[in-house]
Amino acid sequence: MRYVSTRGGVPPTSLSEALAAGLAPDGGLYVPESLPRLEPSTAPPGDLADTCAWLLAPFFAGDALAEELPAICREALDFPVPRVPLGSDGASVLELFHGPTAAFKDVGARFLAACLSRLPRGDARPLTILVATSGDTGAAVAGAFHRRPGFEVVILYPDGRVSARQAHQLGAFGNNVRAFAVAGAFDDCQRLVKQAFADADLRAARPLGSANSISLGRLLPQMSYYAHAALGHWRATGEALDFIVPTGNLGNAFAALLARACGLPIGQIVLATNANRTLPDWLREGGYRGRASVATLANAMDVGDPSNAERLAWLLPTPEARSAALSADWVDDETIRASIRRVAESHGMALCPHTACAAAVLARRRADGDMRPWCLAATAHPAKFDSIVEPLLGLNVPVPPALQALLDRPAQAEPLAADFAALRAALLGT
Ligand SMILES: *Cc1c(COP(=O)(O)O)cnc(C)c1O
Repeated sequence: MRYVSTRGGVPPTSLSEALAAGLAPDGGLYVPESLPRLEPSTAPPGDLADTCAWLLAPFFAGDALAEELPAICREALDFPVPRVPLGSDGASVLELFHGPTAAFKDVGARFLAACLSRLPRGDARPLTILVATSGDTGAAVAGAFHRRPGFEVVILYPDGRVSARQAHQLGAFGNNVRAFAVAGAFDDCQRLVKQAFADADLRAARPLGSANSISLGRLLPQMSYYAHAALGHWRATGEALDFIVPTGNLGNAFAALLARACGLPIGQIVLATNANRTLPDWLREGGYRGRASVATLANAMDVGDPSNAERLAWLLPTPEARSAALSADWVDDETIRASIRRVAESHGMALCPHTACAAAVLARRRADGDMRPWCLAATAHPAKFDSIVEPLLGLNVPVPPALQALLDRPAQAEPLAADFAALRAALLGT
């Protein structure tokens, strides 16, 4: 399989090259040259890592990493991703948050790290993975590259706009990981990263690598949990599984669309956003209008101009194709709060604010008489957002052991102005 750019401006590229590059040289996002057709009945009966190796084999075919794929899947997907019932009406929750940093981004970040550490590099200097994060990406990437020889990690996060536990997590790795608290919004952090990648002198002095959600190495493995859950449901019932996916930059939900396009038994796909309603507006009105992000309770989804919209427009080029393939709905902060309370009261389940957006969208559909067995993608552990969830529920959410281990360590972040000269000086140590 070779990869091309959504903007069509680069020759077909190998997977290894696309993984190392991150963004395509023409500014577009890498996408597969063609979509493989997978026959569900040929999927192995094993665990998530087995499903992932089967699913991604055609995407790795012909690449230097192909032989390593099963080992990469074993290494990256070494935690459970259970699907648990939500009440008794057939709905379920796919818990993507049992990895080391308690959010679904562990899947993509660990897979990418497992790939990159197997790629030969013609440079003896360490590769600095530079990431902007609205909270969870930075921790997942830091966790995935922490203490990996040959890598350093630099995280930029918006000061004061991530939860206290997220901030602590970001600063708690130390060793080869540096966290910067940027005086600005997530969009400022993203702009600084883009400026750094565009600065040839800086990159010559300090080799940079990317790990943001546009990276193929994060996107591809995210297909595996949709595939695995859908195959399980299909084997048991003969039916496709429908998903509601909390959505920000559209990386997670795009993986579900891609898995379905390859023939996996996935039915409807619904995007659930917070008040950053660019995607629901686009799907309803037709014209894409990126905008500045607004701060919400579901902060990891505070994205006003989702990068992966470009991949969606590649996969589904017309408004008709898009509205046939998916739908989207958005919820405000009051609805997020009400959703967290309602699910806890009715089902005894604590949800993070992001997953609560999906639950609110499900509740609207149930109110309209839709009784399909929807599966909600649960993107983070509620304990990561204790300051929001606990006051609403009046109880403490137990902290998973991996998150507790990070919280028990001292944390340190360096303040940084939202200014490229400041980042450049910090990276070059000048
Ligand atoms: C990143 C994140 C999202 C949004 O995922 P996208 O791939 O950007 O759409 C949702 N929930 C949580 C908890 C996240 O960390």
